Amino acid sequence: MKAVVVYAEHSEGAVPRSSLELCTKGADLAKELGAESVAVVLGPGSAKAAAALQSTPCAKIYTGENLPVDRYLAEPALDALEALLKELGPGLVLFGATNLARDLAARTAVRLGAGIITEASDISPKGGTIKVHSPKFGGSVTSEVAFKGGGYQVVVCRPNSFAARQESAKAEIVELPAPGPKQYAAQIHERVAQEAGKLAVEEAGIVVSGGRGLGGPEHFDILEALAAALGGAVGASRAAVDAGWISHGHQVGQTGKSISPQLYIACGISGAIQHKVGMRSAATIVAINKDANAPIFEFCDFGVVGDLFAIVPALTNLVKERKNAA
Ligand code: FAD
Repeated sequence: MKAVVVYAEHSEGAVPRSSLELCTKGADLAKELGAESVAVVLGPGSAKAAAALQSTPCAKIYTGENLPVDRYLAEPALDALEALLKELGPGLVLFGATNLARDLAARTAVRLGAGIITEASDISPKGGTIKVHSPKFGGSVTSEVAFKGGGYQVVVCRPNSFAARQESAKAEIVELPAPGPKQYAAQIHERVAQEAGKLAVEEAGIVVSGGRGLGGPEHFDILEALAAALGGAVGASRAAVDAGWISHGHQVGQTGKSISPQLYIACGISGAIQHKVGMRSAATIVAINKDANAPIFEFCDFGVVGDLFAIVPALTNLVKERKNAA
């Protein structure tokens, strides 16, 4: 194995926490495997993103500031990545489990004739092979999967699986050469920003989530108010998303986002296993539910039995009062 390569996502130069986590894990694996530790950031803004990634333990960062790469188009990124990976030689290639990176990971594996393992929650080298751990059946079982033989190995990692670490030694930055002109079938014609300015649920340190107990989309404003007072984001159960009360980007759980904020406040959410797998690694879980027998009370740290419509606004006022007094 020559290199451990992390495909680090960014948005116009802004690096999500998941990229910092992945670069840290990649560097740690490279050290254990005696391989080169590499990160790749592509497209406009990648120089800014690389500067942010320099604080991670990663040793070398390839940037493609001038490549015709757009984060919503897989083909140009795929061409650049394939060329670089072939130059670096066989290795482990890590992607985050976002929709865009998943797409790129699958295509990269096909181009390189590599094996791919998805939904990784941990990766450990054991006896010369890479063991990839991933939760199955809603987290009730953890599988351990290994690649057969050498060559390229592609792993898609769940967000919040690894801790990001800062290091003082700065990574070397290498600018990739721009390729010759090529016409791609898909092109971006327009961008429409969704909920601009709001914190993404997977990036927030505090998440206030709502479920079917909210009773309708109009009641999400009380969660917005609490999240704003706490400086957090709003999440949701699938029941609320399926009812069309809030967009899927907010969904926490097996078919939504896996998050591990410092504080998770579940309001009117029963605590089904499929919801639990997305938020159980939160440092502190608070549940507000009017049913004392709701399953969420079996795994929360603090439980409040009562009507969320009375408790949430009261909590918001309390937070605001404390902040004003501080
Ligand atoms: P409910 O289970 O209906 O609970 C609502 C809760 O609100 C109740 O406990 C009730 O006591 C409480 N309540 C009602 N009114 C009030 C009030 N005024 N004040 C306080 N409490 C109140 N679910 C997810 O969340 N995320 C996923 O990613 C996900 N993926 C799934 C994947 C599969 C394959 C399947 C089969 C299911 C999945 N689900 C997922 C659905 C999951 O099984 C549950 O149906 C869902 O989580 C229930 O959402 P809920 O807790 O909001 O609703």
